[in-house]
Amino acid sequence: SKRARLDRFISVNTGINRKHVRLMLAKGRVRVDGELARDIDQVVDEFSHICLDDKVLQANKASYIMLHKPVGVVSATIDDKHKTVIDLLDRDDKESLHIVGRLDLNTSGLLLLTNDGRWSKRLMDPEHKVGKLYRVHLQNPLTPDYISGFAQGMYFEFEDITTLPAELEIVDSYTALVTLYEGRYHQIKRMFGRFRNPVIGLHRISVGNIVLDDGLKSGQSRALTIDEIAL
Ligand code: URA
Repeated sequence: SKRARLDRFISVNTGINRKHVRLMLAKGRVRVDGELARDIDQVVDEFSHICLDDKVLQANKASYIMLHKPVGVVSATIDDKHKTVIDLLDRDDKESLHIVGRLDLNTSGLLLLTNDGRWSKRLMDPEHKVGKLYRVHLQNPLTPDYISGFAQGMYFEFEDITTLPAELEIVDSYTALVTLYEGRYHQIKRMFGRFRNPVIGLHRISVGNIVLDDGLKSGQSRALTIDEIAL
C-alpha cells in the first residue's frame, strides 16, 4: 500500500508544495480520520480519510465485504466458464477487491472480499490462528474417532506438511462442525477422505469473529461493520 508521511502524501496528491502543506498542518487546517493532524511525521495511506479545512482531499476508500457465496460460483475475479463472486457484487469498486480465503466451487457460505491488503494479510496469517468454522455434510455416518483424527493433524504428502490441530464436533450422524486454523487446498474434503467419507455439502459459517449474516440470502452481500473489521 502507498504509505507515506502526511506532508508528502498531501503534497503528492494535491500538488500543493511541501512547505505550504507544513504551514497548513501547523495552523491546524488538516484532519486525518477525523482527528486534527499537526505532525508531519504521521504516516497515512490510501485508506486514510484526509480533510483540508472542510474539503475532503481523500475519502476512505477501504472496502470490506461479506458475501453469502452460492454453490457453483467460483472464488476468483475472472473465469471463462463460471460466474465469479465479483459478478455477484453491485459496487463501483468491485474490480479493486480481492478474495480473502477462497472457497471451492461447490462450497457455500461466508466469503470475505476487500481492497485492504494489510487487513487480508493479517486475517490469513497462520501466526494469528484465525479459526474458520465449516458445517460439513457427509455421505457416511461419523464416529468419535474422527474427533481425534482431526485434532492430531494429518500428514499431506503432496505439500509435505502436517495439518494443524483442527476441531471437529459431531452434530448428528451425517453432520459435523469443523474449525480449521489454516486453509490448505481442498483441506476438509481431503481430511474426510482419510476416513473414506465423501463430503456432500460444505458451508463456511464464520472466519474469526466474522459470522455469516443470517439475513443474507445466497448470492447477497453487505459491508462489514466496524466491529467485524476490527478483528
Ligand atoms: N475445505 C475444502 O475442502 N473446501 C473448501 O472450500 C474449504 C475448506
